[in-house]
Amino acid sequence: MNPFTYARATDPQQAVAAIEASPQAKFLGGGTNLIDLMKMGVEVPSQLIDISRLPLAQVEELPDGKGVRIGALARNSNVAEHPLITQRYPVLSQAFLGGASPQLRNMATVGGNLLQRTRCYYFCDPAFPQCNKRKAGSGCGALDGFNRIHAILGQSEQCIATNPSDMCVALAALDAVVRVQGPKGEREIAIGDFHRLPGNTPNVDTNLQANELIIAVDLPPMPFAVRSHYLKMRDRASYAFALVSVAVVLDVGPDGKIKDARIALGGVAHKPWRAPEAEKALVGKTADERSFTAAAQAALAGAKARKHNKFKIELAKRTIIRALSTVAAMPS
Ligand code: SF4
Repeated sequence: MNPFTYARATDPQQAVAAIEASPQAKFLGGGTNLIDLMKMGVEVPSQLIDISRLPLAQVEELPDGKGVRIGALARNSNVAEHPLITQRYPVLSQAFLGGASPQLRNMATVGGNLLQRTRCYYFCDPAFPQCNKRKAGSGCGALDGFNRIHAILGQSEQCIATNPSDMCVALAALDAVVRVQGPKGEREIAIGDFHRLPGNTPNVDTNLQANELIIAVDLPPMPFAVRSHYLKMRDRASYAFALVSVAVVLDVGPDGKIKDARIALGGVAHKPWRAPEAEKALVGKTADERSFTAAAQAALAGAKARKHNKFKIELAKRTIIRALSTVAAMPS
């Protein structure tokens, strides 16, 4: 591990000032991803700015029915079990509980979860010289390597990595908003604009600026989200990243017709993948297997596989159909 210095931030403004003064520094929250990558030599910050004791861990209702705010330092396990989340946004609670292990969820923060790095083998192990994400211009070891876990949507010839987060897939379906603080004050970033597709700059994961601190995630009011579900497909049920996952929110009228739908996919792209074509295909249709199959076809219409991950296309379709069927069978 490279040598680094350590400092503890006393408030969000001071944390932002500290990282502005030291551009090679990193914020330390739960450390569940960052410390691993530092041990591997993938991340080499000059300084760790410990933000773990900042007062940003609340889960609270916003005034005037504007939804729920989750502090960036709220622990994944606490958010998963919070009544405001389990009762109003069960898809998010399920996504948290589908991620990592209980020990990791006790440490991991919401802000850190938003910034998780890909688990592409070639990225995580510097013994592999080719990785455009780790070192711009070095190539991509996964393109012609073992690419079973890699992207089938939105990839580029520079990078076919996937985003590993479960939480972010549910946040995408819920139209969450990320609140960040920078030197000039606060700003909001819609979750759909937070993560980036790889394009020609796969070394840049998000649209967060280097001198900005994530302070909260806002969940807008979505009453029909009480009927929602997160379904994760992985190699081991106990502990593994998603091969494919689906977050579904469905509003079905008393006549059995779909009034509104939200679908987001995980494990398939460089960012949580919202599927607007699939949502559009569902609205006005009867909530049955026929319409769910059409939605799944629409969601994967642009999918492109590499040598080892073709199975993901069919798996994603089946996972969408099963998740939609599960929500449709819930009592209204
Ligand atoms: Fe690196 Fe992306 Fe290629 Fe993986 S897929 S080796 S992260 S450039």
